Amino acid sequence: MPNFRHVILDRDGVLNAEAPGGFVTDPEQFQWLSNVLDGLALLSRAGIRLSVATNQSCVGRGIIDAAALDRVHKKMTVEAALWGVHFDGIYVCPHAPDAGCRCRKPLPGLLESAIHESGIAASETVFIGDAATDLQCARAAGITPWLVRTGKGKNTEATLGRGEIPRVKGPDLRIFDDVLQAGNAVISEKKPKKGETL
Ligand SMILES: [Mg+2]
Ligand SMILES: [Zn+2]
Repeated sequence: MPNFRHVILDRDGVLNAEAPGGFVTDPEQFQWLSNVLDGLALLSRAGIRLSVATNQSCVGRGIIDAAALDRVHKKMTVEAALWGVHFDGIYVCPHAPDAGCRCRKPLPGLLESAIHESGIAASETVFIGDAATDLQCARAAGITPWLVRTGKGKNTEATLGRGEIPRVKGPDLRIFDDVLQAGNAVISEKKPKKGETL
């Protein structure tokens, strides 16, 4: 049973509701999904490292600039802090899909950076996402993929059931309703280190 010490989360459709226009372009459009902050608080209290890994091609497409994206993430981090939640890293691919970058999910660049900077083994790291590309990205980075049914998650689950997402299945791929349910699974399987109490 894995003992996860680092949880990396996709943003849109996992932490916050996907924006009607496809992109969250200002802080007001960043709306937490229900239960998510409870789930993150649970993980934070248990000393689990939290990172975010998100494709934001709206920057590369010229829909918003980097400063606007920073304002969105400022709102996210300030509101999370009210719940005692701290994100250790926010990893963003700002590039347009045709830019040929090495960080746009499903390529593993963002996750590799998060894993490297954490100093925590890939085997103790899980990536929670809602899209097929998130699952593929986790596999490419050699970490456990978990799916949540928020955002695109239900569609992804159906697609997975029809065998339409190659090379992501495995006994470690688990599906949860939301971040709270996934967080509870991480906590219930956490083994305390010597001298540590949960
Ligand atoms: Mg997503
Ligand atoms: Zn990129």
